[in-house]
Amino acid sequence: MPVNPIIPTIPLTEDGEHHGFLRLPYSRDDSAWGSVMIPLSVIKNGEGPSALLTGANHGDEYEGPVALMDLATTLKASDITGRVIIVPAFNYPAFRAGSRTSPIDKGNMNRSFPGKPDGTVTEKIAHFFNSVLLPEANVVVDFHSGGKTLDFVPFACAHVLENADQQAACVAAVEAFNAPYTMMLLEIDNVGMYDTAVEDQGKILVTTELGGGGTASARSIAIAKKGVRNVLKHAGIMNGELDTRPSVMLDMPDDDCYVFSEDDGLIEPTRDLGDVVEKGEVVARVWLPDRTGRPPIDYRAKRSGILVSRHFPGLVKAGDCMAVLGVVVDSL
Ligand SMILES: [Zn+2]
Repeated sequence: MPVNPIIPTIPLTEDGEHHGFLRLPYSRDDSAWGSVMIPLSVIKNGEGPSALLTGANHGDEYEGPVALMDLATTLKASDITGRVIIVPAFNYPAFRAGSRTSPIDKGNMNRSFPGKPDGTVTEKIAHFFNSVLLPEANVVVDFHSGGKTLDFVPFACAHVLENADQQAACVAAVEAFNAPYTMMLLEIDNVGMYDTAVEDQGKILVTTELGGGGTASARSIAIAKKGVRNVLKHAGIMNGELDTRPSVMLDMPDDDCYVFSEDDGLIEPTRDLGDVVEKGEVVARVWLPDRTGRPPIDYRAKRSGILVSRHFPGLVKAGDCMAVLGVVVDSL
């Protein structure tokens, strides 16, 4: 098996605050012996649990990068027991391009696991996380939001897992994150996801969908900053009381939560994020873009719930996810 070429420029296991890079050699036209320099901070104090914190798994999702740049700058070794590894821009080439996937190889980080040491740039980054950083982590926070094409009510989420103890530990950490909504998320397609790699290694995972539209807001960034500190406190890495407020608990029981378009056209949202929707209600309409005098196509909710996600751009294509419903529950 080839060795992964990524080299950290700072120690991963020394006490103190270290700021540097994961350096990935990348030979190309404008730099024959060049590298991809992925920003990295490692803050460590003594023996204790390790947290691995990532933003911009998708390059156009911004709450994670902002909250983690802030944490890396403000967190002192004396604030913690254990270790915090911070990578604000996991798919760094995608982050710099402002795109979901990497401009180098079109790699979607969250479909590239477990990665390859001799694969594409994205696969090499995935492999380094899977084989070097993840095995040493106890708790993992991976920030997402909707990117340029989706928008979400702000939630932290866990997944249904085969191991009930691991699932309970993940749910407890997700509840500690304390976003305004807390979700048991049903993935459309979990093959190759970082989430799956983290969970398969038996780790505690907190992931989020905090907003979207290719930007972030003061509110969504505040949720991210508070949430990551809450998780570090919950894990026993940071001292102090958790900052918690009421959170709406949501479940996604089956695929009926998703509404996909079967048409290209102009989308007319008929419900907004957070609205209560009854089964059979129209959640969006699609107008034919190229003529007048034709009625729109109605898309209806297949179950009752809260609108937790919507298509963001004004134009929609067949196959696009237009709406996602979450069902309010008493507990996860
Ligand atoms: Zn994402």
